[in-house]
Amino acid sequence: MGYGKRIYEEACAELARRKTRAEQTAEMGLQNFYRQCPRAREIREEMAVNSARAAKTVISGGDVRRELEKLKATGLALKAEFSALLSQNGFTEREITPQYICEKCRDTGFQDGRMCSCLKALQRQMAYEKLCMDVPLSESTFDSFSLEYYKEDERTYPQMSNILRVCKEYAGKFRADSSNLFFKGGTGLGKTHLSLAIANAAVQKGYGVIYGSAQTFAVALEKERFDRTDLDGTGDTNSQLIACDLLILDDLGMEFPSAYVNAALYNVIDTRMLAKRPTIISTNLTLKELEKRYGERFVSRITGNYGMLEFIGSDIRRQKRMQRKNKKQL
Ligand SMILES: [Zn+2]
Repeated sequence: MGYGKRIYEEACAELARRKTRAEQTAEMGLQNFYRQCPRAREIREEMAVNSARAAKTVISGGDVRRELEKLKATGLALKAEFSALLSQNGFTEREITPQYICEKCRDTGFQDGRMCSCLKALQRQMAYEKLCMDVPLSESTFDSFSLEYYKEDERTYPQMSNILRVCKEYAGKFRADSSNLFFKGGTGLGKTHLSLAIANAAVQKGYGVIYGSAQTFAVALEKERFDRTDLDGTGDTNSQLIACDLLILDDLGMEFPSAYVNAALYNVIDTRMLAKRPTIISTNLTLKELEKRYGERFVSRITGNYGMLEFIGSDIRRQKRMQRKNKKQL
């Protein structure tokens, strides 16, 4: 699951905070108990000596079994005494042992060398929150996409209902190796709305989605280009764009023109294609305009490997504005 380096690090940091909090709280409880009941501390020390002795016995040989049984009995007696003192002093086991949020991995994020489900869930949640911060994700669903605005002529409605169907199907079947989509058409025809609806569905399924306008990515890429702390050259944005499960590149062609950004975007698109990671690109430009701006190689990558959907109709935002105006006049 690719959420990028930053989300991963943030999730690990959050787990570390949880772990420390659980352990510090338990340690505080234990110290309180010891203050009230000094014998408890002695018992703990005797228990430690007892287990060390058991380890030594195994190595030393002799009548190991009998010796071990004796030590085991001592250990149990100490444990019983400790428990009795604990409750006599009004403490519970919970107060002196770390209460991890995830008992499976004890808030380390890893279990038997594999990533624990809690770390995966945390990354998913953080990625979703980050995405929601940037875009109105919850408003852009398939249910809120209305075909009412595409009834102006005979051609528009069937084409747009077909696009809606294709996008719904794509979202429903979305997987880490789904195909690529290319949304083409003028502004205000629902390209962003449908790409966000797909993002929503993919996030709900637990995939790492990165959504952004070409302008946003361009600014971040340019910034990292001159960032000297990024010594290995694998800038955060660049590696995130390449590694995420689904990349949605909105408004291609609206970013400030730069040869560096063009090359970086080509690299992202090309690398994702080779790795079979799905990308959705939307643009207001025609293929001719794209070719003029990014070159033939760039455009042929897209035409050869993306499912092309052409959005038609007339600007919905304008239609909505007109409706509001008409209502006011009535
Ligand atoms: Zn866990």
